[in-house]
Order: sequence, then C-alpha cells, then structure tokens
Amino acid sequence: MTTPKQQEAIENRELNRIEERKALLNTLHRHNQQILEKHLTKWFRQDMSNGILCDDCGHELYDTGRGTLDFPPSVMVKCPNCRAMGKRYLSP
Ligand SMILES: [Zn+2]
Repeated sequence: MTTPKQQEAIENRELNRIEERKALLNTLHRHNQQILEKHLTKWFRQDMSNGILCDDCGHELYDTGRGTLDFPPSVMVKCPNCRAMGKRYLSP
C-alpha cells in the first residue's frame, strides 16, 4: 500500500522522466532544418557518392537525387564509369 506522499513521489519521478526524454527529442522544424542543411551541403559539394560499388564494374555509385515512390523507399543511383543505373533502398 502506497501512502499519498509515496504516490506523489512516484508521479514526480515519472514527470521528470518525461521531461528528460522531451529534452532529448528534436522538434519538427529543427529536424527539417538539420536535414535540409545536410542535403544542401552535399548538393553544393556535388558529393553525391554513396559508398556503394557498381555491380557491373566496381566503381563507386552516386545518387541521382531522384527518389521513387515504391516501397521500400529508394533513390535512383548511377555509375559514372559504365553508366549502369539502379535503385538504392533507403534505410528505415
Ligand atoms: Zn559501373
């Protein structure tokens, strides 16, 4: 049996946990700003290489920037060496 004082302490701890978790979370606006900044940085550096090798020739592929509406979500990739094209699934 918990006393009212113990119950209050439990509730306060739970409220503190919720506030601590909220402090770690991002807002939608901040999230979008951060992602946009990464996209723009990458775009202006023309560094669209994606760290994946071409199945045909072994050269590093790059993202074309064109997404697809399929499931799972994906982006079109191209090989600058042999011009092979494909779809790269995006991580969930
Ligand atoms: Zn290739």
